[in-house]
Amino acid sequence: SSIPKIVILGAGYGGVLTSLRLQKELNYNEADVTLVNKHDYHYITTHLHMPAAGTDNPENARVNISKLIDEFKIDFVKSTVVQIRPQDRKVILEDGTLSYDYLIIGLGGEPETFGIPGMVEHAFNIRSINSVRLIREHIEYQFARFKREPHRTDYLTFVIGGAGFTGIEFIGELADRIPELCKQFDVDQSLVKIINIEAAPTALPGFDPELVEYAMQVLQKKGVTFRIGTAVKECTADGVIVGEGEEIKSQTVIWTGGVRGNRLIEEAGIETMRGRVKVDEFLRAPGHENVYVLGDNSLVFNPDGGRPYPPTAQIAMQQGVNCAHNLVASIRNQPLKPFVFSNKGAVASLGKGEAIGVAFGKKYKGRTAAWLKKAIDLRYLFIIGGIPLVLRKGKFL
Ligand code: FAD
Repeated sequence: SSIPKIVILGAGYGGVLTSLRLQKELNYNEADVTLVNKHDYHYITTHLHMPAAGTDNPENARVNISKLIDEFKIDFVKSTVVQIRPQDRKVILEDGTLSYDYLIIGLGGEPETFGIPGMVEHAFNIRSINSVRLIREHIEYQFARFKREPHRTDYLTFVIGGAGFTGIEFIGELADRIPELCKQFDVDQSLVKIINIEAAPTALPGFDPELVEYAMQVLQKKGVTFRIGTAVKECTADGVIVGEGEEIKSQTVIWTGGVRGNRLIEEAGIETMRGRVKVDEFLRAPGHENVYVLGDNSLVFNPDGGRPYPPTAQIAMQQGVNCAHNLVASIRNQPLKPFVFSNKGAVASLGKGEAIGVAFGKKYKGRTAAWLKKAIDLRYLFIIGGIPLVLRKGKFL
């Protein structure tokens, strides 16, 4: 048929927002839209630090895709993409092939280990529902193991590599969970160590220094040790080697030190910088007019400073909206709209009742910032699933 085929890869923030907008804006039979995702659920990545630490149920960090999209308007395919072939306008799935006229790549990032030896083999990552289930169970298991081998205090040492958003938010939750676990397993809390290692000269690089200071104080009070300006040199089965060869023994290393783009993109022959595509003003891959790249796989440069915006859910969502608009415009032969990022600020949680953030041009910390974080989370649930989803998955307290 002559109906254009739109294929969206990944039901993350970018892919879901594109799908929701397309199903609203496209007229009947104007395009065939297919959404492909590895799982039949969308995960709310920005919540994953909670189930990872065990302070919330993983169920609250995922939503069935069938509850989000209208399957009369969008075909959902649960499958894993194994290859993208722009030259043939095809996508190879583990169990089939799809052809497209327009492709949207929203497959999310992958951990960037900067080639640190042993990191891929020995460290955990906070990336998906499955990866956080593993972390949660692993942490509890270390407490159980310690009870059988009380000389192994390395079971009670938790090393988090990276003091970016993900690392800091996870540490806040973990510090809240530790007293609970100590009680449950009859463990003396003074034996437990949470060590955060960051190579940059500050935690939360790019964040307001006064708020960073506040965040570190809050976390230190909860028992966190910071090793800022210290590089992880190697990760082994026994822990990490840092700085000039010092070993920190730990059975739990969680790496949050970096995100890169999805390998499938560079394998497709699309030009990338650390796996990310420097997209044109309409979010298209250079040299590929019909391929849009969103979220953690894209690089969008700040028009003033010339630096790329950090990859966030916020920018991925805005890109999804812009991408859907441009797909509809393309199909209707109307002019495309350039993508302009509108930064609404950022709030990082530091565990229960504590957060820091910048929003509406103002700084927030403590309880007010924690409220702001909740409001942002609820707003997201509302955008993707309306009031019913807010009531089912929202955390109000
Ligand atoms: P993702 O949301 O990563 O989704 C990608 C999708 O593609 C997934 O559903 C995945 O299953 C699927 N997929 C991957 N590979 C394949 C394949 N081969 N085949 C099929 N499907 C595949 N950002 C903020 O703005 N605010 C925050 O407070 C914030 N907090 C965060 C806290 C944590 C703990 C983490 C980890 C991240 C946080 N972020 C936050 C960053 C934000 O989550 C990401 O920038 C965002 O998820 C990127 O969205 P995306 O659309 O690129 O892809």
